[in-house]
Amino acid sequence: MQPYPPSFYAASANPFTPRPSLAGEVRCDVVVVGGGYAGLSAALHAAEAGFSVVLLEAERIGFGASGRNGGQMIPGLRWSAADLVQKFGRDSARSLLQLANLAGDRVRSRINRHGIACDLKSGHFQAAAKPSHLEAMKREVELLHDLLGYESARIVDRAGVQAYVGSAIYYGGLYDADGGHLHPLNYALGLAQAALDAGVRIFEDSRARAVEDGARVAVTTDSGRVVADFGVLACDTAMGEIDPQLGRMTMPVANYNVATVPLGPDVAAALIPTGAAVADSRFVLNYYRLSADNRLIFGGGEKYTPAPPPDIPAFVRPYLEQVFPQLAGVQIDYGWGGLVGVSFNRLPQMGRRGNVFHAHGWSGHGVLLTTLAGELIAEAMRGTAERFDLLADLPGKPFPGGRLLCHPLYVAGMLYYALKDRL
Ligand SMILES: Cc1cc2nc3c(=O)[nH]c(=O)nc-3n(C[C@H](O)[C@H](O)[C@H](O)COP(=O)(O)OP(=O)(O)OC[C@H]3O[C@@H](n4cnc5c(N)ncnc54)[C@H](O)[C@@H]3O)c2cc1C
Repeated sequence: MQPYPPSFYAASANPFTPRPSLAGEVRCDVVVVGGGYAGLSAALHAAEAGFSVVLLEAERIGFGASGRNGGQMIPGLRWSAADLVQKFGRDSARSLLQLANLAGDRVRSRINRHGIACDLKSGHFQAAAKPSHLEAMKREVELLHDLLGYESARIVDRAGVQAYVGSAIYYGGLYDADGGHLHPLNYALGLAQAALDAGVRIFEDSRARAVEDGARVAVTTDSGRVVADFGVLACDTAMGEIDPQLGRMTMPVANYNVATVPLGPDVAAALIPTGAAVADSRFVLNYYRLSADNRLIFGGGEKYTPAPPPDIPAFVRPYLEQVFPQLAGVQIDYGWGGLVGVSFNRLPQMGRRGNVFHAHGWSGHGVLLTTLAGELIAEAMRGTAERFDLLADLPGKPFPGGRLLCHPLYVAGMLYYALKDRL
């Protein structure tokens, strides 16, 4: 079995007994492919609903983005309320946001109910990188209040920024008390333990090679096969390996994080006085937070070619030092990367073909939405699909350009927006 790639999260992971590899044929009600948040949540909710469930993970639980991300719990969808209203109208935008806004509560209640030790903290601050971004945030807070009676978001003006971030580069921001942050791998491992306790049979080191959807769903691995009534495909950036059509709905974008040496409580409190998660409003954004032992965990820069930078700390350091010049030369203990599954329009891609459900393309907003998505999938299996359909009906389309051209076209688009950030 592959070890987790080195990261601060792997180094501070809670104990979790490795699960065996699938061997032989197994029969169950639901087979879930993928042991990240989406698959784990679907498996856990399905087991709680009375289904017998098998979960297959190619590597280890939380091996993908769920064990490597920035840990930022960002309320809502990737689209602003203003964009949702413009595209779908007020009523649909309201329904979508009301549903999406349940996600924070779902993650918190799982953490409380199962006693998951994952360093949960409250608050998310979106820092305005340009004056025009602050103006848009003001309109957004007003619209959220008007549309939903949403009270937990408030505007911070330029003079108030220092109470949230010890950096001089921002013009203000939007603080949302409903956001937060957590240790991502420990949340995944906690969900996996909860799923085991609910009766889910988890197999690690069990890569699905083929999925057949007929009268029964059959998933084949190198050493076994699972036959079930329902399937759930939750492989995010690797979806194309088992379903090329779904694979074209998202693009993997590599993103890198570092964790500094523990900074001590005073230095840490001067960087982020509220202890909230912070992300800025740039298209290629910087996002950061403090770990429980007062490290700065910082994500910045994106890379559109598959090969990781030879030195991840050196790649991320300039972004970190631009935000916090006072940390120039700070010791970086860990650097790691992962793939973000980005959909063409940045909206999640959920759906169903026959008895096989799929959920992917969270576009950097997966920490909260995935747990809710698992609940909606299990609910749809039980025959109530209204809430599942609300997300499944969101538009989506494959990346243009076919297999060979879609990546270069995507890179060209991203570079255009990255350039706009700089101008
Ligand atoms: C560096 C980085 C930073 C991020 N920061 C944030 C953030 O701060 N906030 C936020 O909201 N989102 C963030 N995201 C996005 C978020 O992590 C993802 O949206 C979320 O974890 C996706 O969960 P998932 O379960 O769909 O996919 P994953 O966590 O990727 O899980 C999919 C699993 O499927 C397994 N798998 C793949 N193929 C197969 C197969 N054939 N058979 C069996 N198993 C298979 C993989 O090994 C993997 O474990 C970030 C992502 C990255 C990479």
